[in-house]
Amino acid sequence: MLRRDLLKSALASTVALSFPSLLRGQQADKLTVIDGGGPNVVVFSSADGVILVDSGAPKSGDKLIAALGSNAKVQILFNTHYHLDQTANNEMFAAAGAPGVKIIAHEHTRQWMSTDYWLPDEDRYEKARPKAARPTETFRSTGTLKAGAEQIDYGHLTLAHTDGDIYVYFKTSNVLAAGDVASPLRDPALDYLSGAWIGGRVDAMDLILKLSNEQTRIVPAYGPAMTRAEFKAERDMMEEVRSRVWKQTIQGDSPKEMLDAGVMNGLSRTWKDPYKFLYDTAKGMFAHHNKLDPAVI
Ligand SMILES: [Zn+2]
Repeated sequence: MLRRDLLKSALASTVALSFPSLLRGQQADKLTVIDGGGPNVVVFSSADGVILVDSGAPKSGDKLIAALGSNAKVQILFNTHYHLDQTANNEMFAAAGAPGVKIIAHEHTRQWMSTDYWLPDEDRYEKARPKAARPTETFRSTGTLKAGAEQIDYGHLTLAHTDGDIYVYFKTSNVLAAGDVASPLRDPALDYLSGAWIGGRVDAMDLILKLSNEQTRIVPAYGPAMTRAEFKAERDMMEEVRSRVWKQTIQGDSPKEMLDAGVMNGLSRTWKDPYKFLYDTAKGMFAHHNKLDPAVI
C-alpha cells in the first residue's frame, strides 16, 4: 500500500505521520508539510498538480524550491492570512507557474496585501505587496474544490488571529491546515488592529473542532501537526484566559494590572511574553466591549 506522509516541519525533520493513500491513475496523492523558513507550508501533490497552503517566510524561496523539487508545478496556493510568514513567496510561485497560478484567500487578506499597513510593535508601515503577490481568487465564507481524489474544503475563521484567517481542510486525507489559529509552540498572537480578539479565536477554534473528528491532524502555522485532543486542550486554555481577562476588563484593569493579578498563572503552558499577549488581548477586548457585558460602557 502506498502511503502519504506528513512531515513535521518545525525541526525540519523527516516523516512524522502517515496517512492511508488514495490513488488516481498511477500517481498517489501525497500530503506533506515542509519548512517554509520557520512557518509550515502544506504541500498536496496529485496527478492534477501541486497545491500549497501558505508560501513561507521571507528569504525561504530557495529552500522551498529545493524541498518541492524543481519539477513541481504549483497550481493553487492558499494563504491562511496576510502576514508575511505565510505570503512572502507568493510572487515567486505565481511567476514560476505562470500563467494561471491561482492564489486563494479570504477577501480581507487580499485587501491587507493591497495596502500599506501599520506595524505597532515595530513602529513602522509595511509596504503593500506587488500585484503579482496578491490573491487572485477570494471568498468571504466557504469554498470547496477537488484535486486528484481529494476533497478540499476551506472557510473563514472569523477574527481569530487576523480578520481574514481561513482553514484549509483536506477532507479525504483528514488533515486540516489552521494557520496561526493553532499555536502549540509560539505564544498565540492576536492582530488586534485587524479586529482579531480572543473571543473570535475561541469561536474559530470551536468551528475547527466541529469540522474535525478524533483522527483529524491539525497543522498549525508553526510546530508539529496536532491531534484534535491537543488542539482541544489549546482551545480550552484560550477560553480560560478569555474568561479571566473578561473579568479583569469589567473591573477596569490595565494589562499590567491583569498580569500582576495573576491572570496568566497556572495555565497549561508557559508564555514567552505574557505581557504582550495580555496587551493585545486587552486591546482586542476593548474593541469588542459591546459583546462583553451590559455593565461595560
Ligand atoms: Zn500570522
